[in-house]
Amino acid sequence: MYTDILIIGAGVIGCAVARELSAYEASITVLDRACDVSEGASKANTGLVHAGFDAEPGSMKAKTNVRGAAMFQDLCEELGVPYVQNGALVVGFEEEDRFVLEGLLKRGEENKVEGLKILSGKEALKLEPNLNPNISYALSIPSAGITSPYELTFALADHAAVNGVSFQFNQEVKNLNLDEDGLWRVTTNQGEFTAKILINCAGEQSAVLHNMISAEPLHIIHRRGQYYLLDRIQPVPFERTVFQCPTKMGKGVVVSRTVHNNMIIGPTAEDIEDGQDTSTTAEGLKTVVEKSCLTWPGLALRSTISNFSGIRAHEKGGDFIIGEVNGAKGAYEAVGIESPGLSAAPAIGEMLRGLIVKKEGLQKKASFVPPIKRPKPFNEMTVEEQAKAVEENPLHGHIVCRCEVVTEEEIRQAIRRPVGATTLDGVKRRVRAGMGRCQGGFCSPKVIDILSEELNLPKTEITKSGGQSYLLTGNITDALKGEE
Ligand SMILES: Cc1cc2nc3c(=O)[nH]c(=O)nc-3n(C[C@H](O)[C@H](O)[C@H](O)COP(=O)(O)OP(=O)(O)OC[C@H]3O[C@@H](n4cnc5c(N)ncnc54)[C@H](O)[C@@H]3O)c2cc1C
Repeated sequence: MYTDILIIGAGVIGCAVARELSAYEASITVLDRACDVSEGASKANTGLVHAGFDAEPGSMKAKTNVRGAAMFQDLCEELGVPYVQNGALVVGFEEEDRFVLEGLLKRGEENKVEGLKILSGKEALKLEPNLNPNISYALSIPSAGITSPYELTFALADHAAVNGVSFQFNQEVKNLNLDEDGLWRVTTNQGEFTAKILINCAGEQSAVLHNMISAEPLHIIHRRGQYYLLDRIQPVPFERTVFQCPTKMGKGVVVSRTVHNNMIIGPTAEDIEDGQDTSTTAEGLKTVVEKSCLTWPGLALRSTISNFSGIRAHEKGGDFIIGEVNGAKGAYEAVGIESPGLSAAPAIGEMLRGLIVKKEGLQKKASFVPPIKRPKPFNEMTVEEQAKAVEENPLHGHIVCRCEVVTEEEIRQAIRRPVGATTLDGVKRRVRAGMGRCQGGFCSPKVIDILSEELNLPKTEITKSGGQSYLLTGNITDALKGEE
């Protein structure tokens, strides 16, 4: 199959680039080895929109983080994605931590992050009374925010798709070659694609793909981060995101609320061999609890609803690598996009779009379709709005997920989106059915029924998250018949 532009990776970076380029005259295809958008690091991170105070001044991380963070509010509003500018604190417990915080303040000011201020322990406790009373100092970062990383990625993909971008899943890129005719020949597990322009946004595999086409090798270190996700708590015990003083492995363990009022604690930072090993370990989770308790002595693990981990793609050189691939005509890349990659994603999309449009001479489309306005979630409506929604569509009167109050209509809409859900996890991340306290214990069978109806597939073909993750093996009547 021929496409003008081929993007490898449907994470937040690939989708941001696809959306930006979908405003130009070109056929665009996004390939991903997974079964859906946002199945890599973009689904398993802290969801923080970093203000940009700790990236090395002048680095690609600093530039894209600060620009990306400034774009977030408008982008999320346009796409209908949750975003809250809740602010952040970096806390220190020792007298000498003041020097670390002053260093961060100076760095942040060099990066042009506004509003940074060192607070005394007393001032910080006034803002966040559930903090450890032994806190000595805190750096306040009022411009930091939080978002839903996968909801952002889905919305970017949907907007790209309504503007003609084709998404193809279960396509693992195995080989890249530049033909004599100047076209890229891309071999996947399913077949072959040819493209004029190639964009590598393959996350933890981005260096492997880079090394197939470049004489200047890159090396990704897989750095796993493990988490606890706690049930929704009202009021949230911390309004602001709370960091501890950073280490050389990263920003350290964070205590934060999410945009859905859960509490998230983590992540660890462990270098591992396998970039797809998202298991959690007793040791890793113990570290998360020990470190989080220092920030939040009142932490109660009985409200845990899930543990998970994500893999950072840390390039050995320590910075993001964004731009043209040296010596590979028509090839572009975003390699080593670890944290703050989510915060930087809108800026990385913008940067690659600017570069590619200029280099390849792309022309703007006469019409660019705006994003489809997402309806207000049923659980955020007032009682009057809910009554009206049910009157207009009785499927809103059928609550499928009781923990998160998600209706049958919302689940059907999640499957019918431009890049719609095809799996149980796809529904869960798009509309939160199964995200609550029971983690899908009650609603999963009903969601399977709806997926089977909407996709016109037998229930035995419905998976949790693609591949062999089937949920049902058959029906009891057939099984009993077999025994007769
Ligand atoms: C623990 C953790 C915490 C983080 N916290 C934050 C945070 O709070 N704030 C922040 O700004 N950033 C954070 N980040 C960083 C952020 O999550 C990433 O920078 C961002 O998600 C990277 O997006 P991506 O699209 O590059 O990668 P991914 O989301 O991993 O997407 C890459 C895609 O490429 C696909 N792919 C790979 N190889 C192939 C192949 N051969 N063929 C086809 N497809 C392929 C994968 O399936 C995947 O879908 C965190 C990261 C981690 C892991």
